[in-house]
Amino acid sequence: MKQAKWLVIPAIMLLFGWFWSVVSEEEDHGYGGQFNLVNASLSSEVIPLNGQWLFYPNQLIEPQETVFGGYDVRLVDVPHSFTESEFGTYQTDINLAPEAVGELLSLYIPNLGSAYKVWVNDDLLIEEGQVGASRETTVPAKKAQVLDFRSDERMVTITIQVANHYLRKGGLWTDVLIADNDTMARSYNMDRVLTSIICGSLMVLFLYYLFSFLVQGRDRYHLYFSGLVFLVILRLILEGDKLLFTFIPNFSWEWSMKLEYLTFIWLLPLFAYVISLKYNQQANLKFTKLYSITVLLGSAVILLTPSYVYTQYLVLFQATLVLGFAYVLRVILKARKEDEPYSFINLVGLLVLLMAGLNDVLYYNDWIRTESILSIGFLVFLLIQIVILVIQHANTIEQYRTSSTELKALNAELEEKVNARTQELEKSQQDLLEKNRFLHKISYLDELTHIPNRRSFANVLKSDLSEAQEKGESIALLLIDLDLFKKINDQYGHQMGDACLKIFAELLNQHFSKLEGFVARYGGEEFVVICRGQRLERLVESSNELREKVLKLKVPGVSQGELTVSVGISYAEKADITSDVLFEQADAALYKAKDQGRNQVIVFDK
Ligand code: GH3
Ligand code: MG
Ligand code: MG
Repeated sequence: MKQAKWLVIPAIMLLFGWFWSVVSEEEDHGYGGQFNLVNASLSSEVIPLNGQWLFYPNQLIEPQETVFGGYDVRLVDVPHSFTESEFGTYQTDINLAPEAVGELLSLYIPNLGSAYKVWVNDDLLIEEGQVGASRETTVPAKKAQVLDFRSDERMVTITIQVANHYLRKGGLWTDVLIADNDTMARSYNMDRVLTSIICGSLMVLFLYYLFSFLVQGRDRYHLYFSGLVFLVILRLILEGDKLLFTFIPNFSWEWSMKLEYLTFIWLLPLFAYVISLKYNQQANLKFTKLYSITVLLGSAVILLTPSYVYTQYLVLFQATLVLGFAYVLRVILKARKEDEPYSFINLVGLLVLLMAGLNDVLYYNDWIRTESILSIGFLVFLLIQIVILVIQHANTIEQYRTSSTELKALNAELEEKVNARTQELEKSQQDLLEKNRFLHKISYLDELTHIPNRRSFANVLKSDLSEAQEKGESIALLLIDLDLFKKINDQYGHQMGDACLKIFAELLNQHFSKLEGFVARYGGEEFVVICRGQRLERLVESSNELREKVLKLKVPGVSQGELTVSVGISYAEKADITSDVLFEQADAALYKAKDQGRNQVIVFDK
């Protein structure tokens, strides 16, 4: 099945073969300077006047003069061409069918590129340009014409003078047609309408690519493609019936000729660029550059020399065309081999173009009797590009759709993840807060006894003192020290000393809670108590109660009564004292208690 698509290629070749055989099969009606149209139906078909005409080389003869005879005359096969330096007169008789007599008939004179003059019988119907025997007396023309005439007899004589002098070749080199007026008009108009439609469609394509270039980040592919389309449009309106002259009747002949050649030679370089950009892996940019330079030189010749010079080089220009085709074919075949996207469909398009180009080369060299179809070939190729474009767009949309659903799923997943993370974060924040609180707590608590430490004591003393001063309350500081604690440590070990400190701290805390005292470990075996709003007697009493409790305290492993405390009290009735003085006084009282034998309570006394 995959191989079946290759059948397209021989199919295209067969199609062109059939096209060529059909056009060349058209029978000639003219023999010996006479066309027999007795059996031809001019009301249903357009008949080319291909066949033997009389030809008077290098003579401009009017119909009335031919009766005298004595001219150099020969029979030629029309379509017929002569060289640049020549001119001449063609003449033939047409034998009409009886029903055509008196009918309005039409003669179609194609665009010959040169000046011509047409008579039917003795009536001069038209002079397009100016027919002369030399270049100086000749004005070239480039228009096709439909000429109407009516004949009262069955025999009609058509005389056509053609003067070249300006082009590579001249003469009746392509089909002169005859039909009745309606049929001719229909066919002629059909041709022009078709060309107009094609031009219009191509114009849309041209604008599409031009705007693509302007809008989508100046992609050179779009620019060259629009250029290529523009050249095809130009060629379509410049060749054949020359729509250009319908739009701009006064357009210069010289320039229309130059434009025709220029568009012709620039088609392939642009095409080569378009293909090179499409398949840049397979392209050879050096070649495309060199090729463009060659064509640029050709353009200079066309622009700088007169038409009778540069048209001589048609074969050279056609050679550049062949070269360009060969290059493009090589790139696309390579792309095909490497399985690049759309390389097969491009290969098919190129083949159509190739056959159309071949047709044109053969046609312009008078080897076959067809018509110029290179522009149609390009049209097919451009249409294929539109198909590719549509497929690409569809693919892009499909990709966009799948990726957008994927994106949605991804988004949902992400949201879940974010939620989980947020929860984790909240939890760790909570942990952190708790840890912080804990840290705060332990920085104000004593590690061993778990009662407030010296730092807490300093803070509380400051605030309690100022509060007591504000309220006019009393404040008391009790400094409590375990007696001869060094001995306990020495005797029972440091661990046992620690245990004593813990038990004592607990006792102390409990004991002074009744007085709403603030208890802290000042350091080592020294403790402090702050009491506000208490009477001194009460404090002394309570201190002695503590001293008794310590004496009776049961610490496992330590003999009862071995642990004793001394207490130094500093007291200020209205709290009119500084914290330093309060402490010094308590310290002094404690010192005194130690001095007097320990295990006693002393109140500082001035
Ligand atoms: P004094 O009656 O004069 O206060 O005698 P003392 O031995 O209690 O006083 P001194 O200042 O000479 O010694 C205090 C001792 O307290 C020294 C040290 O071994 C002990 N000590 C201080 N802090 C700790 C502690 O955290 N744990 C233990 N186990 N012992 C401590
Ligand atoms: Mg001490
Ligand atoms: Mg001590």
